[in-house]
Amino acid sequence: MALPSTIAIDGPAGSGKSSVSFALAQRLGYLFVDTGAFYRAVTLLALRAGKDLSDSDGVAALARSAALDITGDLGSDGRQCTVLANGEDVTWEIHSPQVDAHVSIVAANPGVRQAMLAAQRALAARGRAIMAGRDIGTVVLPDADLKIYIDASLEKRAERRYAQRVGSGEPADLAQISEGLRQRDTIDSQRDIAPLLRAPDAVYLDTTTLSFEQTVEAAYQIVLGWDRHRPAPASAPPGQP
Ligand code: C5P
Repeated sequence: MALPSTIAIDGPAGSGKSSVSFALAQRLGYLFVDTGAFYRAVTLLALRAGKDLSDSDGVAALARSAALDITGDLGSDGRQCTVLANGEDVTWEIHSPQVDAHVSIVAANPGVRQAMLAAQRALAARGRAIMAGRDIGTVVLPDADLKIYIDASLEKRAERRYAQRVGSGEPADLAQISEGLRQRDTIDSQRDIAPLLRAPDAVYLDTTTLSFEQTVEAAYQIVLGWDRHRPAPASAPPGQP
């Protein structure tokens, strides 16, 4: 049975879309592309360089000059992909609370987004890819074979992030995590360029009451039934077959 070659998965911070996309990619033998990693890597480089993040042109120039790559190398430390910035493995460092706190500002920079677009499309063009982010179904891959929008309540998303942090031995404060997610939701969905948006032809998957395994299974079933979710072809103009 033919499967969709490109799958776009969007959703808010902490909805589980990255973990679900990764599990799905493993099950299907697809490349998982976490586009948040691009914005996180630029944020990390900008912070390290001591850039003023409100200097749009300066940060965009840094984004254009950075060599960013995402590979399917899983190493042996639980990573879901490998993120390289100027040849350096930054896979873990881009998930620091400091990057968390600044990434949405960098991602709202039009020059940064423009610089990331070609690299993201080039990865998807290889085919058999699951790309996760905020604007994949709307901007990056508007012609993706299948689009899924993964959602969950803010409360549930904060609980999951908290459990993740505690599980990996990091300090965590539930109220602070919830507030951080709320702020990122606001910036991501209200920015002028490529805001977080559910594409009209995306399948909506609310995971608030689902376990991780149930979510992966639900997403898998959506993939198997992808033909049912394809937009109907535009009807032919009158007088044409
Ligand atoms: O998915 P993740 O939480 O790692 O994304 C980090 C940030 O990168 C998001 O809060 C958002 O600001 C930005 N992002 C984006 N467009 C994407 C993916 C992520 O703006 N396609």
